[in-house]
Parts: sequence; structure tokens; C-alpha cells
Amino acid sequence: MKVLVLGAGVVGITTAFELARDGHDVTVIDRCEGPGLETSFANGGQLSWDHGAPLAGPGVMQKAIKWLGKRDAPLLFRLRLDPAMWAWTLNFIANCAEPVYWHNAELILRLALFARERLHDILKTEAIAFDHRRGGILGLYQDARELDRDVDAIRSWRELGGSRTALDHKGCIELEPSLAYSTFSIAGGIHTPLDESGDCYAFTRHLAARAETLGVTFHWNTTVKGLKREGERITHALTDRGEEDADTFILALGSYSPQVMKGLDLKLPIYPAKGYSLTVPVLDDAMAPQLSITSNTHKLVFSRIGNSLRVAGMLELNGYDTELVEARARITLDSTMKLFPRACEPDHAKYWTGLRPLTPDSLPIVGHAKQPNLLLNTGHGMLGWTLAAGTARIVADLVRGHAPEVDISGLGWERFA
Ligand SMILES: Cc1cc2nc3c(=O)[nH]c(=O)nc-3n(C[C@H](O)[C@H](O)[C@H](O)COP(=O)(O)OP(=O)(O)OC[C@H]3O[C@@H](n4cnc5c(N)ncnc54)[C@H](O)[C@@H]3O)c2cc1C
Repeated sequence: MKVLVLGAGVVGITTAFELARDGHDVTVIDRCEGPGLETSFANGGQLSWDHGAPLAGPGVMQKAIKWLGKRDAPLLFRLRLDPAMWAWTLNFIANCAEPVYWHNAELILRLALFARERLHDILKTEAIAFDHRRGGILGLYQDARELDRDVDAIRSWRELGGSRTALDHKGCIELEPSLAYSTFSIAGGIHTPLDESGDCYAFTRHLAARAETLGVTFHWNTTVKGLKREGERITHALTDRGEEDADTFILALGSYSPQVMKGLDLKLPIYPAKGYSLTVPVLDDAMAPQLSITSNTHKLVFSRIGNSLRVAGMLELNGYDTELVEARARITLDSTMKLFPRACEPDHAKYWTGLRPLTPDSLPIVGHAKQPNLLLNTGHGMLGWTLAAGTARIVADLVRGHAPEVDISGLGWERFA
């Protein structure tokens, strides 16, 4: 079968790889000059199999309102006259109710644990260098009340199949000795030992090369403008270099997916959520974290990428704006220098912004579109690196007409209809 994958981020590339392994004739189209150059480029690096949680949850809107207009706000709604943003926000608010939060959390955990199996399966046969680290993620708290609240929730996470452990201040330092030098007070933490980290871009680039050896064709510097429909089927992708036909089409354009769906009678509620990262060389290994860390106070994640430290965070809803605002980027560096003093060379920090393709419930949109030969694999939000290997396999199974190995109810576009 001829399959056209639209988008060469981590989601499109893992999908193309799985499809090629199944023996399909696969072509990937992307507007960039190579794989993984947009949101998959310099993300936080966390493989949050057990640590991922929906953004929409109890108390989030109250915090967002408190932070409105604050320069150092980790979550920023820049309200615009944009009907898509307002519709998205209303849906997001509906997902903040406690029972809905736990329902979404359960689906994320189920999908993430499946993605873990699938990534490990890929790594069994493919020797991919991506600064892969195991040992879990340590979530840190400065605020004892916030810690107590999340420790109370551990039982609920365990009932869903997670394996979180609460740690006091001393336990955090025993697990991650570099925290002994921190100038922040640390009330305690929660460790999710199953979790891992790694360089999403390196993985995407190397897997694309492996896919090429399996016969996948790439069309770089090619922008998809839309999809041509005849009756109930998609016949072509319309690009700035002409039309491309296929039997099956996979939509994996991240934040830009809704634009290409225009005219197909299906509105995807994916909104771009800008985030920042910095990558800074490590000066002193003993002062820098070995484990991947999440600071719940600063809403920042820290992962080692080789001899560098990657720090990522901030979430801004402000349309497709990717501007790197120096003052916002510096907040990330300042927090890093306080949490891990003398670990890095601040003058060599490289900053980046990316647009998370975020749905109101933080779950990706996976499955058939209204047209049976168009499959959606998009909207992975804050967890695209984590979930990509799982949703790729699901889509590949749907293409070959098999039931996916994991329950995919609640992942389709129909949940927003
Ligand atoms: C600051 C930050 C930190 C993050 N940290 C983590 C983390 O620690 N762990 C985690 O799991 N996830 C994390 N994420 C989320 C993760 O990076 C994304 O979910 C993931 O990269 C999305 O992958 P994608 O392939 O869907 O999108 P992309 O990587 O954006 O790929 C989409 C591709 O489509 C192409 N494209 C778009 N429009 C067109 C068009 N019209 N024509 C042709 N090509 C087009 C683009 O060029 C791009 O290559 C983070 C994101 C950010 C911003």
C-alpha cells in the first residue's frame, strides 16, 4: 500500500518507520530540510511513561488567572480575538473538573505505558544513539502543601497502574546528590522510577535514517497546502510542489494539523502552546543532575543530553507566535543556576522555542478521520516524545486493518464532536 505521511517530527518519523517495517511503500513530506526541526527539536527530553499528567486539572485556571500579565508566569493565556482560542479554552476549562482530570490521566498513563513497550521494542533492533538515560524522573516541590496534596494522590495513581514514591528532603538528595548544592529549599519529591529521558531530535534523525534504509522516501522543503477529496476518500496531498497521490494519508503536522484539514468538515481542537528551552554545557558533572528532574514550583524540566543540561518549560497560549522573548528565556536560566549552582556555563546557553500541539484534554488525536483513508496522529501536546512510539504503532495497526494492541477508546476526534 502507498502511504503518505505528512510531517517529519518525532510523530511522523516513528509512524513512517512502523509503516515501513510492516512493508508499506512510504513517503514522508515536510516543509523543513530534514526531520525533527520544529517542536521535536529541543524539547525537555523526558520520557514520562509514569510521570505525565493532563495540563487541565483542578486549580489550573485559578493559577492561570493569578499569573495573568506576570512576566515570569509559567502558564500564560494571552487572550486574543481568536475564536479558535476561545473555543479551545472553554473545552480546556471543562476538562479541569476533578473526575474528568482522572479520566484523562488514566488514558494518558495507559497510552504512555504502551509507548514505553513500543520504544523499547524499536531499541531492540535499532542501535540508536540519543543520550538515553534510565533511572526515573524526580519531581521536586518547594511548597510542602503542594507536596502533601500530590503525595495524597499517589494512591490514585497507583490504582491506575503507576508506581510513584514519595521522598522527603533527605531522600531527594540521596537519589540525586547534586541537589545538595541547591540554593532552593526542597520540601520533598515524588520519584517515578520507570521514567527515562533522551534527546528527541537525535532519536528522530537517526530513526529517519533507519526508515530510509527500509525504503522510505522523503520530500523535504515541501509545504502541504491541503488535501484533495473525491467522495469519501482523500486522493492527493496538495503541496507547493504539486500533487502527491497515495492510498492512505497520515496527518502528523503537529500544531499545524488543523490548517491542512480546512475544507474537510473536521475541526481539530489543537492549539499551539509555546514553550522555551535552553541547552547549556555542563561544567561540573557532580553539580549537575544525573536523573531527569521536574521542578513543580518552577514548572521546569531538566534532562541531561550528553554533556549538556536541557531545561524546558513555560506554556504560552498566544497563537502561532514563536518569538523568543529574552526576558522569559532568562527566567529558565536563572532558575537553573539557583537549583544547580555552578553546574553549567551560563554564557553558552542556547535558547529555543517550540509550539506544543495541545488539545484541551492533553490527549493526542489518533485514529481514522471522517475519510477512511485519512488517519490522524497529532495533538500530542506536552507528551509527544513520550507517546510517539505508541501512537505510531496504533496508526500502523489501523492501516493494516488490525485492532491496536492497546485500547484506543477516547483518543479519536469524535470526543470533541
Ligand atoms: C518546551 C517544550 C518542552 C517539551 N518537553 C517534552 C518532554 O520533556 N517530553 C515529551 O514527551 N514531550 C515534550 N514536549 C512536547 C513534544 O516536543 C511535542 O509533543 C512533539 O515534538 C510533537 O511532535 P510532532 O511530530 O507532532 O510535531 P513536530 O515536531 O512539530 O512535527 C511536525 C512537522 O510537520 C511539519 N509541518 C507543519 N506544517 C507543515 C506543512 N503545512 N507542510 C509540510 N510540513 C509541515 C513541520 O515542519 C514539522 O517537522 C515539549 C515541547 C516543548 C515546546
